[in-house]
Amino acid sequence: MTSNIMQPILKIDLTTGKTEEYRIPEKWEKEFLGGASLAARILYSSLSSELDPLSPEAPLLFMMGPMTGTSGPTTGRFVVCGKGPATGLWAESNIGGFWGPELRAAGYDGLWITGKAQEPVYLWLNGSRLAVRDAAHLWGQNTYTTQDRVKEEIGEKSARVCVIGPAGEKQVLFASIMCDHGRMAGRTGLGAVMGAKNLKAIAVRGTNQIPVFDLAKYAPLRSEANRILKQDNEARVLREIGTAGAANYAEYLGALPVKYYTRGSFENVDNISGAKMTETILTGRSACQGCVIACGRVVKLGDRAKRKGPEYETIIGFGPNLLNDDLESVVDLGELCDRYGMDTISTSNTIGLAFHLFEKGVITEKDTDGISLEWGNLDAIEQLVNLIGRREGIGDIMAQGSRWFARHFGAEEEAVQVNGLEVAYHDPRGVSGMALSYATSPRGACHNQSDYFFVDWGHTHEQLGITFFERHAQAEKAANVARHQDWRTVFNSLVMCIFANVEPQMQVKLINAACGLNWTIEDMMKAGERAWNLKRAINNRMGLTRADDKLPKALLEPFPDGGSAGFVPDFNGMLSAYYKARGWDLESGKPSREKLPTLGLDDVAQDLWD
Ligand code: SF4
Repeated sequence: MTSNIMQPILKIDLTTGKTEEYRIPEKWEKEFLGGASLAARILYSSLSSELDPLSPEAPLLFMMGPMTGTSGPTTGRFVVCGKGPATGLWAESNIGGFWGPELRAAGYDGLWITGKAQEPVYLWLNGSRLAVRDAAHLWGQNTYTTQDRVKEEIGEKSARVCVIGPAGEKQVLFASIMCDHGRMAGRTGLGAVMGAKNLKAIAVRGTNQIPVFDLAKYAPLRSEANRILKQDNEARVLREIGTAGAANYAEYLGALPVKYYTRGSFENVDNISGAKMTETILTGRSACQGCVIACGRVVKLGDRAKRKGPEYETIIGFGPNLLNDDLESVVDLGELCDRYGMDTISTSNTIGLAFHLFEKGVITEKDTDGISLEWGNLDAIEQLVNLIGRREGIGDIMAQGSRWFARHFGAEEEAVQVNGLEVAYHDPRGVSGMALSYATSPRGACHNQSDYFFVDWGHTHEQLGITFFERHAQAEKAANVARHQDWRTVFNSLVMCIFANVEPQMQVKLINAACGLNWTIEDMMKAGERAWNLKRAINNRMGLTRADDKLPKALLEPFPDGGSAGFVPDFNGMLSAYYKARGWDLESGKPSREKLPTLGLDDVAQDLWD
């Protein structure tokens, strides 16, 4: 029997209009499973340091996993991959909703888009029939309106639509891609890549059964895994009070950055907490396809229509980060970003930087067209979101991300970013493992490639050897962080949500049934390690070295207050221990000549070292 489970990828060249089915080599499926890992293998030779991520040649790959749409635990997800326009590095962004399962039901496990349409277009994939349609009349429309209008035009209410908003069209370098009214591929600016291709939307409808290698084996495992997950304590908290339920504890620990990462405590945290949202404005919960957790929030403000409620990152970014404790304003600011199609972490981080530079006198009202950036000024925050989304005034500079914005004003060291991706809101001064998570993630300062803050809070994975180290421990936890990254890379291969607390023993059984494999837990972890190293090699080929594995200045200065006051991670010591655990060359930062063949990456070893 063959273990080939993935369906073909549809390649679409927007310049020529040509399409072609791409069959994934079976060997690669067995080594990388799917999702971002398999995408890295497929795109490996297409990504180079010379490639302009906003050029027609740049690839954009919408990639499914072997469990996408199978109703396994949190498997309604897919991932978008390419080269990041702000980072110049490997880019991936994991997204939920229903679009991924719909594409699989249409008979494809990926869309690989290159080229650039002459005029704005959208794609309509109805089963195997692809139409390229004019989108000139949709250009400038927000993400919500675009989805509705595309569905109306194609006359198919059941279709699912992925879109960009005005920010993607104008190539804001942290523009996102949205599907299903509020689910976002938020990070790494791949909405700008889509905009650069003049591609406004992709509508999909599929009616096939989604393939599973051994459904008889998979179905009872899926039921059991979902039953356990539904009763899991973390899942219950996520369902009850959402991801923002983490705000109070993070603040208590001094792991919640306040006032653009300069303070470690926020006395009004209760006003913006998940509990507060549940008690005041919450009217419902939403879930991605098949998910039993349902972390999504539906809220109602006064007599206005129901709308999406914000999650943790949006709340902290537009809340404590900007000294704002008005929860309803955060709902509106999050929605404004969604409508433009912009990542709320990068947007709020870059706005925080603007306030910070204003306070330091680096920028003045002359630079902001008269807007006074006094902390807590809600009107100013909203104006900046609009200016960025439209690329007007100072917003045009901010639209290039915090690194370029700060550099423009000669203050690059003030930007809280790693390799061009803005840091999320889990501060390594409160949970030290995040120092390595941010500095070594293949896509810049990412909290999802290893949400190690959970481990620092005490959530271990003993079966994997991921044990507990005190939250301010240092180099001794480096190998643990590497192992956790490998574990999360498995999630990104499948593609699953990091909120799914599925035990490794169950995870490997699900993989074996879904893919026709006979893996052990160690085989599964090795696949994660292989993909992590492959993405590292892609970045090395694009110019990344050890000197780029660093933290911004602000994260290496102690908080003056809060539960972690006075502590900073010994970053260099941690990084050296991490390199040793990874088997990476201490000087160049590349996976070593000896390491790569142990992962089956002989060709990559040749590329990097010969
Ligand atoms: S936990 Fe939330 S984000 Fe994750 S799959 Fe479920 S609904 Fe989607």
